[in-house]
Amino acid sequence: MTERIFLSSPHMSDEGYEMDYVQQAFDTNWIAPLGENVNKFEEEFAEKVGIDHAAALSSGTAAIHLALKAAGVGEGDVVLCPTLTFSATINPIFYQNAEPVFIDSDEKTWNMSPAYLKQALEQYPNVKAVIVVHLYGLSADMDPIMEICKEYGVTVIEDAAESLGTYYKGQHTGTIGDYGIFSFNGNKIITTSGGGMLVSNNEEKIKKARYWATQSRDQARHYQHSEIGYNYRISNVVAGIGRGQLKVLNKRVEQKKNIFHHYKQELGHLEGISFMPENDWDDPNFWLSAMTINNGINPTIIMDELEKENIESRPVWKPMHLQPVFQQYHFVGDRTSERLFAKGVCLPSDTKLQNEDLLKITDVLKRIFY
Ligand SMILES: *Cc1c(COP(=O)(O)O)cnc(C)c1O
Repeated sequence: MTERIFLSSPHMSDEGYEMDYVQQAFDTNWIAPLGENVNKFEEEFAEKVGIDHAAALSSGTAAIHLALKAAGVGEGDVVLCPTLTFSATINPIFYQNAEPVFIDSDEKTWNMSPAYLKQALEQYPNVKAVIVVHLYGLSADMDPIMEICKEYGVTVIEDAAESLGTYYKGQHTGTIGDYGIFSFNGNKIITTSGGGMLVSNNEEKIKKARYWATQSRDQARHYQHSEIGYNYRISNVVAGIGRGQLKVLNKRVEQKKNIFHHYKQELGHLEGISFMPENDWDDPNFWLSAMTINNGINPTIIMDELEKENIESRPVWKPMHLQPVFQQYHFVGDRTSERLFAKGVCLPSDTKLQNEDLLKITDVLKRIFY
């Protein structure tokens, strides 16, 4: 069997930047959830995305949790969120004993529909926050979303877990709303094996998030706590990997973009294939190349054929309002997300892919479509 081709897998720098920072942590014995790498990772990351403050955490999920907490989300509150996303966007709403209402996708972006967001804000009086996701590295249409949220006075949290390196009208995704979160899980565009970042221009809130993330230890020599805390800080070893990975982010975006353009060039003309939407205000990182099949061919046929060649592919995210665990919660929309799920396929977008791998993948698809 040939070596498996993955959707997106970890890719360390050729230069060994990551090892250098990890080595520094070892050399100084800072094998701890604090240290130079943690502080520098926060600074370098904030500078990279263009925001004032960042808190490095153990995961993107932890960052969403602390963003909700910082936004004051609690029992009885409603949080509006896209239905087309990964479950990690939603789970922290329940950690805060709040309730989600799922908003449908906009065909034009695949992300949260501003029209249905507005409808939901009119319909539900106790909305405290909105979580916007930038799926597959495509940015949501933030201008109308921000305008509507401002009108209703709700906090905006951007789940930019998949969109590090994506810009909306020149501004980095995750820095447009009140809070942004990023993930460094193994499948993301850069990885630390696991980790996350919470960003905001609100210094006080980021300081508070660091406090919650380290068991809410008050300023005192003895261990004193006046709030419930969490163990959510990133390790100094892992933060070193992040610092190294940050140096190759631009290169990874370039590689992901080339992968998308390869697919588009080879397959874009085929009857029945449409690629994920490109908008002129969006400068995506192309984390995953996704397409929809519109000629009645079942995407499972495509995924099965790729699997025979040991090539990983997946459907577009299954909408949250269809998930057994969430199906009792409300949904606002016209089921665009369900159509995307039924017709969508994510193609291998691993930055380690060689030209011959990409040609192999498109050959499999051409065999099906010709
Ligand atoms: C990966 C991901 C997360 C969660 O990040 P972790 O670091 O794995 O906790 C959240 N939201 C989306 C959209 C993701 O893709």
